[in-house]
Amino acid sequence: MSVTFKSIIEKDLDYFKSIIPNDRIFIGEPEIHEDYSHDELSGIKLYPEVLVEATTTNEIALLLKYCYENDIPVTPRGQGTGLVGGGVALEGGLMISTVKMNKFIELDEANLTLTVEPGVLLMEISKYVEDNDFFLSA
Ligand SMILES: Cc1cc2nc3c(=O)[nH]c(=O)nc-3n(C[C@H](O)[C@H](O)[C@H](O)COP(=O)(O)OP(=O)(O)OC[C@H]3O[C@@H](n4cnc5c(N)ncnc54)[C@H](O)[C@@H]3O)c2cc1C
Repeated sequence: MSVTFKSIIEKDLDYFKSIIPNDRIFIGEPEIHEDYSHDELSGIKLYPEVLVEATTTNEIALLLKYCYENDIPVTPRGQGTGLVGGGVALEGGLMISTVKMNKFIELDEANLTLTVEPGVLLMEISKYVEDNDFFLSA
């Protein structure tokens, strides 16, 4: 089944603003930095209509539920270093950046497992595990 996506309108923005504070929501150009219109390969250049910087899973859950129910396309975005356009908002809509979700949640030493939020960088993981007498092999 194909979906006809909708553009973001005022009532959608009002909903986004009820979840995300003003300093983490960016609407159109030039508020949305040019970096967010492409990935590392820069082959495609398309802006999302709205960019939000999420800080909790609850914010993301509320946004995804709303966008799903209103046929608004969503693009998750990490550091934008992908090379195949997956992090580019091909259909416009909402981009959810996870760069501010950068907390370490749990180091399970017995099972050699580290749980982190999606915005944690590999170099930060390396330092964190070394500070705890482990070594990251990537
Ligand atoms: C110089 C260079 C070297 C590279 N070397 C390697 C390498 O050695 N090995 C390798 O595997 N890759 C490599 N890559 C590719 C790239 O770095 C990886 O694909 C990287 O993991 C992308 O992470 P990102 O956070 O930048 O994701 P983005 O580019 O932001 O997104 C990539 C995809 O993941 C989705 N996404 C992002 N965050 C989330 C999330 N939290 N939840 C759900 N979906 C999400 C996006 O929508 C998109 O589809 C390299 C890239 C460059 C530029």
